[in-house]
Amino acid sequence: MGATRVAVIGAAGRMGATVCAAVEAADDLELVGRFDVGDDLGDLAGADVVVEFSVPDASPGNVAHCVAAGVHVVVGTTGWSDDRLATLRARVDAAPGVGVLVAPNFAVGAVLMMEFARRAAPFFESVEIVELHHPDKVDAPSGTGARTAELVGAAREAAGVGPVPDATTHDPDGARGARVHGIPVHSVRLRGLVAHQEVLLGGPGEMLTLRHDSFDRASFMTGVLAALRQVPQHPGLTVGLEHYLGLG
Ligand code: NAD
Repeated sequence: MGATRVAVIGAAGRMGATVCAAVEAADDLELVGRFDVGDDLGDLAGADVVVEFSVPDASPGNVAHCVAAGVHVVVGTTGWSDDRLATLRARVDAAPGVGVLVAPNFAVGAVLMMEFARRAAPFFESVEIVELHHPDKVDAPSGTGARTAELVGAAREAAGVGPVPDATTHDPDGARGARVHGIPVHSVRLRGLVAHQEVLLGGPGEMLTLRHDSFDRASFMTGVLAALRQVPQHPGLTVGLEHYLGLG
C-alpha cells in the first residue's frame, strides 16, 4: 500500500508547521499540500487526510470544505461550541464514509489526565481546574479545560453528586475564572509556559492533584499521527482522541 497523502491547513502556524515536519519525517505518510489563510483549498492537493490547525472562526468552513470533498479530517483547532459541532455532525452524516475527528488535545498524557479526572470526580466534594498557557493563546478557558470540565461535570451528574461548592479563590473580577458545566476553571497566561493543566479534587482532609505538562509541541504529535492513520477507519464525527485510544 502506498503512503497516506496528507495536507495541512494552517500550515504556516505553530502547530501546522510542527505537523508538516512530523508528516515529512514519517515513512508511511506523504505531505502533499500546505494551506494557510487566503489559499484556495480546491481539491486539497489530492490528499487522503487533512489535518486542520487554524483559527476558531475559520475552522468550521475549512472542515466543511474537506467533508464536501469526501476527505477525512483531523481537527485540532479549538472553539468548537455545541452549535458548531451540531452543524458539523449534520454535514458529516450527509457524507457517508468520511471520518472527522475533533480533538481539543492531542497529547496522550492530557487525554489520560482527562480520563482519570472523569473517574475520580464523583469521589470528591470539590473539583477545580487550573489551566496554564503561554500569553499568546487567544482563547480562555482552553479547549482542554472546557472539555475536562464537561467530562467531570457529566460524571458527577451521572453519579448523583451535588454541585461543586463556591470557591473562594476566584478572581475578584471574574476575568480569569469561569464555571463550565458547573466546574470552576481558572485560566493563567504567563510567559514561559507552553500548555499545562491541574485538576484539583478536594475532600475532607485530603486532596488529589492530577497534573499534565506539555513542554513542547512535540507532545501533540504522537496523537496527531495516530489520529491521521486511524481516521479513515472511523467514519462519522468523533469528538475527543480518547475514542481512538480505546478509552471513550
Ligand atoms: P497559530 O496562530 O500559530 O497558527 C494558526 C494558523 O492558521 C496561522 O498560520 C494562520 O495564518 C492560519 N489561518 C488563519 N486563518 C486561516 C484560514 N482561514 N485558513 C487557513 N489557515 C488560516 O496558532 P497555533 O498555536 O498553531 O494553534 C492553532 C489552533 O490549534 C488554535 O485553535 C489552538 O488553540 C489549537 N491547538 C490545539 C491543540 C490540540 O492538541 N488540539 C494544541 C495546540 C493548539
